Amino acid sequence: MSPRASAAPPKPPFVARKALPKKPKRVARDVALEYIRRLEETYPDAQCSLDYRNPYELLVATILSAQCTDVRVNMVTPELFARFPNAAALADAEPKDLENRIKSTGFFRNKTKSLLGMARAVVDTHRGEIPRTMDELTHLPGVGRKTANVVLGNAFGQNEGIVVDTHVTRVSFRLGLTRETDAVKIEHDLVKIVPREKWTLFSHLLIFHGRSICIARRPLCESCPLWDLCPSSLVIPVK
Ligand code: SF4
Repeated sequence: MSPRASAAPPKPPFVARKALPKKPKRVARDVALEYIRRLEETYPDAQCSLDYRNPYELLVATILSAQCTDVRVNMVTPELFARFPNAAALADAEPKDLENRIKSTGFFRNKTKSLLGMARAVVDTHRGEIPRTMDELTHLPGVGRKTANVVLGNAFGQNEGIVVDTHVTRVSFRLGLTRETDAVKIEHDLVKIVPREKWTLFSHLLIFHGRSICIARRPLCESCPLWDLCPSSLVIPVK
């Protein structure tokens, strides 16, 4: 996941800022589009980091990824999918057995309830097939808008919304794309700026950027391809 050479590497003269601004300035749409262009150039392989082969596997992996890293989920799912290859098999799982298999992803009791509830509803209401609409997906137990967006965008290729996770929340705030902190309100701001055909890709770009450069503790602005446009940049060009 190492980023390619940035589109606009910072070169002196610039001045360094000590701390991130509390309320970064909102940027105009043309700046946002330039962000996307540069991020696409920097992360040409940006995609979903969860391993899956079909919508069922992605839905299960996404439920498991709550409060857990994708790397950890990817360690658990191969055996899980071998034992429970579809919703019908998962619906018949013994809760204790399932808990033990997913224990290392954390919150395993709640996740077991969600997985069993989801699988049973898929079998009872959708003949064992993962549904393809936001409304149907979010009616499944344990499936919220974020999880539904992941499945629709990645497994079905439908840009129904933008996935807002912790990286998207932090990076979009720093970039001046939103001033909101609530995921639904952030998504509302982002869909107004980002072209619809890029909604799914856009969250992968921000997630890749948030993991490698715009990290939570201290962003690496001096290595950032957006340093000269970002209102939070710790390196500021001298005019
Ligand atoms: S790393 Fe880039 S996006 Fe993040 S605050 Fe610094 S300049 Fe902005």
